[in-house]
Amino acid sequence: MTVARLARCKILPSHLPRMHLPSAHRQMSIAAGLKNSSIFRSQGLIGGKWIGAHDGKTIQVNNPATGEIIADVPFMGRRETNDAISSAYNAFNSWSKQTAAERSKCLRKWYDLIMSHKEELGQLITLEQGKPLKEALGEVSYGASFIEFFAEEAKRVYGDIIPATLADRRLFVLKQPVGVVGAITPWNFPLAMITRKVGPALACGCTVVVKPSELTPLTALAAAELALQAGIPPGVLNVVMGNAPDIGDALLASPQVRKITFTGSTAVGKKLMAGAAGTVKRISLELGGNAPCIVFDDADLDVAVKGALAAKFRNSGQTCVCANRIIVQEGIYEKFAEAFSKAVQNLQVGDGFSEGVVQGPLINEAAVQKVESYIQDAISKGAKVLLGGKRHSLGMTFYEPTVVTDVKSEMLLAREEVFGPVAPLLQFKTEEEAIRIANDTNSGLAAYIFTNNVQRTWRVLEALEYGLVGVNEGIISTEVAPFGGVKQSGLGREGSKYGIDEYLELKYVCLGDMNRK
Ligand code: NAP
Repeated sequence: MTVARLARCKILPSHLPRMHLPSAHRQMSIAAGLKNSSIFRSQGLIGGKWIGAHDGKTIQVNNPATGEIIADVPFMGRRETNDAISSAYNAFNSWSKQTAAERSKCLRKWYDLIMSHKEELGQLITLEQGKPLKEALGEVSYGASFIEFFAEEAKRVYGDIIPATLADRRLFVLKQPVGVVGAITPWNFPLAMITRKVGPALACGCTVVVKPSELTPLTALAAAELALQAGIPPGVLNVVMGNAPDIGDALLASPQVRKITFTGSTAVGKKLMAGAAGTVKRISLELGGNAPCIVFDDADLDVAVKGALAAKFRNSGQTCVCANRIIVQEGIYEKFAEAFSKAVQNLQVGDGFSEGVVQGPLINEAAVQKVESYIQDAISKGAKVLLGGKRHSLGMTFYEPTVVTDVKSEMLLAREEVFGPVAPLLQFKTEEEAIRIANDTNSGLAAYIFTNNVQRTWRVLEALEYGLVGVNEGIISTEVAPFGGVKQSGLGREGSKYGIDEYLELKYVCLGDMNRK
């Protein structure tokens, strides 16, 4: 049994109050409706066939807002993963030989189908992940945008002609797909983290074995069903789920898998990076962050509060780019803390299907316990809870949106990714100090700055050791811009014109003896 599975078993602590029944009933009817929809699948996809685990083992998928079991999905391992690799390997031969225009048409059709099933996909995301429906629908559009973008990019995989160094030679560079890709994805964006990988991979002719998180496989399976409906040939996209280390090991061990692309925790990313050495695979890693959000004295207070709120509390604080440390200059600190807390107090917590809710539950009990331990650590070292700081009265894994002041760099809240609805406020005096605090971490994914000073903007954004920087803006991800981290936040970039390079090999060709008659 995996660690995540063990954590999930603890999802229903008996001492906690349950959700209000009307909401739970409503969710059950939504789940029942979805099960009858044409996109609902609860088996793995291998070689175009929906199949169970070879030994019949299954694992439950829960709704984190209610604890309700939504579905049982196969608990797969090495054997099924090896089958999926074989089918992807066989499919590679024909898929990679299709023209770019043919692949582009399939992807475009997939995009259209995702968008025409936006409502059902959004509901599935809310059901298995917990985020508010409006946010889930936003994820469907965001996730689909990668398929649309890479459908277009498929036609722009240009090579190069290099001016030759000798008169009888011609030199050029071909770009070719790397081959079979193993894509391992997390639960916090059940659709977008998959499409951000599968879009570019399929566009340039790779085939893929996807392993979604066992906590949120239903969205992945629904997306795969739509891929089949779009005419993406059997074996081009395969989905297996279950025993994560076994599936990961099978992907790593196979010489047929030429690339691993992973989004998830830094700890697992490091294991995969080490494991990929055995067969010298290409690897892309989108790992954890510890995003600083720096508010300077000269910032517009309203813009800073709005931006910090969005950067911190999206998906209840469960994103890799969530502001993890809000670092505020001394002159604006009190005013910011007051205005920010007022805004946080207005965030409505509840099940994601209820009108007006903007904060759903955390993914599982282990996530809540992690938040609690970080808060305890901070309090024991002198921090003060300004707002929240405890489980929500709704019970389950709901946690109160929280603001903690007097946070210091040595506290866990500042050192590690809290991955929950907790905003730690740190104070600084000078620009140099803000940059030092911001860079004092092994992570380097997203950073945010709020200032109205143009010169300072340039100085600080250039000094920040991060892959993404938002200036006076808290939500910055888009399919057209490169997404990825530096330091221990990862390797490679996803999205944008750069994202497709992760799935391409360069082949240099030297054509000699041109002048022979
Ligand atoms: P995780 O525990 O690392 O899991 C990510 C994926 O890896 C899941 O599919 C998981 O499977 C699988 N996995 C776990 N152990 C494995 C192993 N030994 N071999 C192969 N696969 C294994 O991360 P998470 O808790 O799901 O996601 C949260 C983390 O993702 C955070 O750190 C967040 O910052 C990061 N994240 C980063 C980005 C980015 O773009 N940089 C985006 C989103 C999230 P199971 O779930 O089935 O166990």
